[in-house]
Amino acid sequence: MKDANKIVELIKSAKKIVITSHRSPDGDSIGSSLALYRFIQALGCSADICHPDPCPSFIEWAKGDAVILDFEENEAEVTRKMEAADLIFCLDYNGANRLGNAMGEILSSCKGTKVMIDHHLHPDDFVDVAVSEPDVCSTAQLIYELIDASGNLSLMNAEIGAPIYLGIMTDTGSFRFSSVTARTHEIIGGLIATGVNHTAVHEDTYDNNRLDKLKLRGHIIAERLEIIPEYKVAIISVTEDILKSFNYIKGDTEGLVNLALSIEGVEVAAFFTEKGDDVKMSFRSKGELAVNILASENFDGGGHKYAAGGINHDTIENTIAKFKSLLPKYF
Ligand code: 5GP
Ligand code: MN
Repeated sequence: MKDANKIVELIKSAKKIVITSHRSPDGDSIGSSLALYRFIQALGCSADICHPDPCPSFIEWAKGDAVILDFEENEAEVTRKMEAADLIFCLDYNGANRLGNAMGEILSSCKGTKVMIDHHLHPDDFVDVAVSEPDVCSTAQLIYELIDASGNLSLMNAEIGAPIYLGIMTDTGSFRFSSVTARTHEIIGGLIATGVNHTAVHEDTYDNNRLDKLKLRGHIIAERLEIIPEYKVAIISVTEDILKSFNYIKGDTEGLVNLALSIEGVEVAAFFTEKGDDVKMSFRSKGELAVNILASENFDGGGHKYAAGGINHDTIENTIAKFKSLLPKYF
């Protein structure tokens, strides 16, 4: 990895380090943040993790004794930490807007040296040091490469390795997406050799479901699924009222869009979630359609060819209608 030694030198000479990642954290943002946090500690330094919003419950286990401050609940403290930091990591995102407007503005105005480590296409020019590797499956894998390329693999242990495993596992659909390479498996092998309990990572993440969560997911698939055969598209959606009736907590619908994509004959899946006056969208593709282009051109979003997302300021009905009206153009 280019700049690995430079980044480690920056860590060693920094007085106050903050680690940020994108809004609506997933296994890779949480995993890469925790892995970097513990690597920084292994170097004899310290850092604060400051995220835009809280960690979803299904990956809470990964935090251990680490604290993740979130802007939603601790705006003043996160602002203070970011303004005081002389080194700020931007993990798993490619533009300040991925922090949300308010926290993004703080990032843009604060003075610390900014280091991006990310695997999304087309990064904005918003940092001082940019490690952008869109061919790599996850930011967590890039944290491993940082540790390896800077000659610090001797510091690797289960505390650093488990969140790396988590990030790679969640961003690759458990090692199945085309982004997985021989190098990914080599790294995973190395993590297991250093003592990462891989079965525990899988079980703690995926075999810990609340009953309400499973019922919500069942309801969405049973009652809120529409298939458009001529475009091989599956659409699922959920309103705030439905979420409330199933005692929704963050993370409950994580990955559900992939279940819609798994339907035979379906090549594109879209998931629409009502959120206040906006609709959050998740897109997945296993065919020719590049969903990141559809998302960026129409829904203020982006992502990867096969996994993207966006947001629309309208009702859920209008947003779904807009999506449907775009299909002829994109197929
Ligand atoms: P998910 O559907 O899991 O929320 O997001 C899948 C991918 O789409 C993410 O890894 C991220 O790259 C991208 N993505 C999701 N939401 C947004 C968004 O609002 N804006 C942008 N630029 N990318 C997004
Ligand atoms: Mn990622």
